[in-house]
Amino acid sequence: MAFNASDHSDHEQVTYFSDEKTGLKSIVSIHDTTLGPSLGGTRIVDYDTVDEALQDVLRLSRAMTYKAAAADLELGGGKAVIVGDPEKIKSDELMRAYGQAVDCLGGRYITSVDVNSGIEDMDVISEETDHVVGTSTGLGDPSPVTAHGVFSSIESCVEHSYGTDTLSDVHVAIQGLGKVGHSLAVELTEHGAAVTATDVNDHKMEALAEECNAETVAPDAIYDVDCDVFAPCAFGGAINDETIPRLQCDVVAGAANNILEDEHRHAQALADAGILYAPDYVINAGGLITVYYEYLDRDRQEAFEAADEIGDRLLTMIERAEADGTTVLDAANAYAEERIETKGRTSFARSW
Ligand code: NAD
Repeated sequence: MAFNASDHSDHEQVTYFSDEKTGLKSIVSIHDTTLGPSLGGTRIVDYDTVDEALQDVLRLSRAMTYKAAAADLELGGGKAVIVGDPEKIKSDELMRAYGQAVDCLGGRYITSVDVNSGIEDMDVISEETDHVVGTSTGLGDPSPVTAHGVFSSIESCVEHSYGTDTLSDVHVAIQGLGKVGHSLAVELTEHGAAVTATDVNDHKMEALAEECNAETVAPDAIYDVDCDVFAPCAFGGAINDETIPRLQCDVVAGAANNILEDEHRHAQALADAGILYAPDYVINAGGLITVYYEYLDRDRQEAFEAADEIGDRLLTMIERAEADGTTVLDAANAYAEERIETKGRTSFARSW
């Protein structure tokens, strides 16, 4: 029955873990390990039903496969959920039990931080397994690396759209001045771009305006800013039926996950409006690169260098979309699928 369920059908392994003593209820989904061991965070969420948790982990683990493949990493896609209210269920004992669960998968799944799980949790998990990244002894906050990948992608979009490799005449509107948005704004202004930014937190806007030469606007006004590039770096679904008609930009390229409310329909709507969309999962891969490099014992500088290549890869996807008459999202998905297919054809045995 389970093998035929359409939502499971392309996942390699879905494992349920429970531990009565600590109250652990967890699902680990390994979507695809053709390119390498699966890596993805563990989120702790009080789902209404186990089926809701299952749907979430299946969807998220599939997305990790595409993200790793499109980032040219030797890595597969996985994700895990721990079911329950983090405020109530989290304890060192529970995280240790979860660490043992991860360990028994023998390295096919590597875990990391995600919604409601942080560095301190990874430290506890690391007492039970080596297959964890994002610990306090790791490569540190991945956000600046993520921001750098988005920056290099904006450079590529500018080069493609305006035929120039300088940002001095480019105006970028940034939504969200959190860990990624702030770093991005600073890097852009350092390279001569004009930045207009917003955040729901006034202090973050003031801090940015003090640090670099950036304008700020009220949160809802960001969609109407007359700019070249709009960079959503706050939350998912920023691009939707309501906001697309308001956009005054030529490019949408930001760090937020799931920028498009309805992925394929809104990718097409942006293309129809003549707006170049740089797929979020391609350009925000700097975070994944950082934790993967931590796993490989590489250093932070190497992670920045790898993030720098995201823009070049994006350019090949943009060119392919143009040649094939598809959206860049379709071209990115095809790029990822072809990497997996090629590796799958040439080596059945897992080499990692
Ligand atoms: P963050 O929580 O540090 O920052 C988000 C910012 O958005 C906050 O400053 C918040 O006040 C602001 N915000 C919330 N609602 C807003 C609104 N309506 N208008 C304007 N600003 C608003 O998060 P982050 O780590 O900077 O990540 C930003 C996005 O990028 C998230 O979607 C995240 O999932 C994604 N992402 C982050 C990384 C990373 O390395 N941090 C990697 C990949 C993807």
